Amino acid sequence: MDRRGEIVKVSGPVVFARGVPDVHMGDQVEVGPEGLIGEVIGISGDVVTVQVYEETTGLKPGMSVVSSGMPLSVELGPGLIGSVYDGLQRPLEVIADAAGAFIVRGVRARPLDPEKVWHFSPSAEEGGEVSGGEVLGEVGETEAIVHRVLVPPEVSGRLVWVAEEGDYRVDEVVARVEAGGGIVELKLYHRWPVRKARPASRRLPPSQPLFTGQRVLDFLFPIARGGTAAVPGGFGSGKTVLQHQLAKWSDADVIVYIGCGERGNEMAQVLKEFPELKDPRTGRSLMERTVLIANTSNMPVTAREASIYTGITIAEYYRDMGYDVAVMADSTSRWAEALREISGRLEEVPAEEGYPAYLPSRLAEFYERAGRVEVLGGMEGSVSIIGAVSPPGGDFSEPVTQHTQRFVRAFWGLDKELASARHFPSVNWNFSYSDYVEEVKGWWEEKYGANWRELRDGILRVLKEEDSLQHIVQLVGPDALPDRQRWYLEVAELIREAFLQQNAFDPVDSYCLPEKQLKMAEAILLLFRKGLEVLGRGVPVLRLRGSPLVEEVVRMKELPQDEIDSIDSLMRRIEEELEKIGTH
Ligand code: ADP
Repeated sequence: MDRRGEIVKVSGPVVFARGVPDVHMGDQVEVGPEGLIGEVIGISGDVVTVQVYEETTGLKPGMSVVSSGMPLSVELGPGLIGSVYDGLQRPLEVIADAAGAFIVRGVRARPLDPEKVWHFSPSAEEGGEVSGGEVLGEVGETEAIVHRVLVPPEVSGRLVWVAEEGDYRVDEVVARVEAGGGIVELKLYHRWPVRKARPASRRLPPSQPLFTGQRVLDFLFPIARGGTAAVPGGFGSGKTVLQHQLAKWSDADVIVYIGCGERGNEMAQVLKEFPELKDPRTGRSLMERTVLIANTSNMPVTAREASIYTGITIAEYYRDMGYDVAVMADSTSRWAEALREISGRLEEVPAEEGYPAYLPSRLAEFYERAGRVEVLGGMEGSVSIIGAVSPPGGDFSEPVTQHTQRFVRAFWGLDKELASARHFPSVNWNFSYSDYVEEVKGWWEEKYGANWRELRDGILRVLKEEDSLQHIVQLVGPDALPDRQRWYLEVAELIREAFLQQNAFDPVDSYCLPEKQLKMAEAILLLFRKGLEVLGRGVPVLRLRGSPLVEEVVRMKELPQDEIDSIDSLMRRIEEELEKIGTH
């Protein structure tokens, strides 16, 4: 059957075509003589609207548009980990080899290397019933990741044959399932449409934190496994360093990093730096548990849209193997800008600042794909999403930040002023928040027997008090305040310096264990309480300020992980020495 339609109009990355037979919304199409990849985003009568993911210069009316009859999909199988893909899941290395440093249009490259041989060990029993998501066997994908070969979600039936242990390429058949009167052949990989969330058995409550080793996040504004967080911040506020810290230290098994940089050098930097990051768990390259999706500056803006969906689909796939996956999207603002450009080409009626009216629903759909679930195969897995937002001029009232805020449950607002004062991470405690506090409280109690919630609230209370005293301080200076309030200011400063500031480049403090976070908070609050008692005995605040104990508290962060018990002895000394002041 002839499946060719014809271009009637080209408007930037959008192409209108007529006469494409058997075409459906969301179908992947090939456009023009080079077969540029596009996706059907609208059908009206005989005219289909296609968003093209490659540069469209040179396309003209009359050129062909061919539907693949399938939605835009990705290949899911061993070899994803360690790969660097563009939004269409083309390996950047392979296309760079084929086309020089720049991606030439219409280049095809298999996402999974068809020549690579994998050692497959079956675990499913022949003759039994299998259904979608069940594990057929395993492949050692990298040193860090065992790849579970899954029955594709829509397949179920009797497993009539499974390959014996041995070496296979991704295209070889490793199992046969009798289903619906026919035989379905299963390979080491399967395809999945990127816009469709992969199914799971049921959602589980987000009751475990995704531990990051960053005190301001874990202690004050935690994200749960399977949770969502947004990191808005202007240029230079430390977004990239924070994303790298999260990739390195968060206790996820697999990291999917989606880079939609605007300037070419931003992405080039990520592509250079990421493979150099060391995995603290193994001491080897972090790429052994990372998939990178990158848009370089020479790709059209539409490719950002494809990257977002490709990235989240790959994340769900590893979740389905029972892994905890963290997705970092940097930055979602660039994706929103792409939506705005396409919408303009379609001459849609714009909503705020030219963004389409469906911007909020797109953001919602993306963040909804996060979750901790029982997967079809019975294991537990999660996808956590951390989306960076780059508000122009650092103004959080702009539409992308505002809408994102509605769909995420943790909000880590980066503050330019803190960054320029070299307070890093520049997460501002006054306008950041987390909805997961109540949910992850039990984890801290069970695991560490500690009242994390109370300590957290204690820390925040001092910071709030400092904030509310600010205007008086600005008017009359701190010295005019009563001693008690001056002590609040002292301790707030201590909290900022000793607890919230955490240097990403410090070999010890780059990561902070939960036990250490608890002890540090406990020591600070003990000093605070004991100090209030001392003041209550009429001792001037100056005596407390000059105490060498304060200096020791500031230096707690320098203690290596195996010396954190010395915080206990510091606390004993705080008790004893402050007990003595002003009693005789
Ligand atoms: P952005 O991506 O928001 O433009 P970056 O992440 O590149 O900003 O951060 C800018 C600079 O701030 C970094 O080069 C680094 O010097 C400093 N910085 C950011 N975060 C930290 C941190 N946690 N510890 C130490 N320095 C930091």
